[in-house]
Amino acid sequence: MGRILATLEKRLAPLSSPQAQLDRLHEVELPASFETSLAGAGLFPLRATGIDILQINVGRRCNQTCRHCHVDAGPDRKEVMSREVMDACLAFLERHRIRTFDITGGAPELHPDFREIVVRGAATGAHVMHRCNLTAILLPNYADIPELLATHRVEIIASLPYFQSNETDAQRGEGVFEESIAALRLLNGLGYGRGDGLLLNLVTNPVGTFLPGNQVALQARWKQEMKRRYGVVFDQLYTITNMPISRFLEFLDERGKVEEYLTTLANAFNPVAAAGVMCRNTVSVSHDGTLHDCDFNQMLAMGLTAQAPRTIFDALTDHGMASLSSREIALAPHCYGCTAGSGSSCGGAVA
Ligand code: SF4
Ligand code: SF4
Repeated sequence: MGRILATLEKRLAPLSSPQAQLDRLHEVELPASFETSLAGAGLFPLRATGIDILQINVGRRCNQTCRHCHVDAGPDRKEVMSREVMDACLAFLERHRIRTFDITGGAPELHPDFREIVVRGAATGAHVMHRCNLTAILLPNYADIPELLATHRVEIIASLPYFQSNETDAQRGEGVFEESIAALRLLNGLGYGRGDGLLLNLVTNPVGTFLPGNQVALQARWKQEMKRRYGVVFDQLYTITNMPISRFLEFLDERGKVEEYLTTLANAFNPVAAAGVMCRNTVSVSHDGTLHDCDFNQMLAMGLTAQAPRTIFDALTDHGMASLSSREIALAPHCYGCTAGSGSSCGGAVA
């Protein structure tokens, strides 16, 4: 009886803590563990192949509270990257000549020093990418940001679940679609998405418990529909698989679909996608300076494996960088979200 009650309590407890999420994921009996699938593809242990991308999560504050958000972001979140951590990230970029600087959040614009991060990041010579929810740049205090991004040739990766309002608003909130279109028109007006080097890429994720469709085919359809319906142009469409963590894991759990969804991901394991997962050339920094293999591991509080540096401060030395560049990646069942079908990464499909 005690065990039944304990299980029931566990079931009723929200999956709010990273450990509770990891426990829930590990409960699922999959056809094979992620490590076994990697071993079958000759990829275990999975190792980094270098650091091409520094991705920083500047905080979890956001003006939206999307249902699928893997960051569990929202207006009430207090986490903000400190100036010390910010300075260390910029020093890391410069010292190790990192090619790409990827700024994410929350809504990164809400960080008090967002403008400075962009300007100093671009000054290092790195290609700067900004993950934008589109609505934040319409807020009164942030009206100068689109022009700042254009001036520094920052690539914008903008999330938009679908090219119609019902599906988008169901996932991101009432009225978000209309505002997103207004923001996209504003960006187009500044020259974004018009093929002259100011890159505007859109990110879509399925509005449900299925894998994304074919990225190439979807991009062709989206380009046509966005132009015809709203006069909006963009460069590329990235399809991203919903990661079974945070709010999407809670969504699955409430509907009794955790097993089904994880099994779908595991059955769709693609060795080619596994070889190209983003953690192999990326390191992710949290607002407090700890290092993670990716933003998903960051949300699950999974640090780097034992031999690798723990924080961005430890990674500033040549020794820290060397060990970071060849580290073994920390894995858990959610990793199947990156290797299913055509694969999924912050840059869309992998295979
Ligand atoms: S806009 Fe992005 S960060 Fe903000 S709640 Fe939505 S998914 Fe999360
Ligand atoms: S979830 Fe992170 S660590 Fe796991 S495969 Fe994907 S990118 Fe790599």
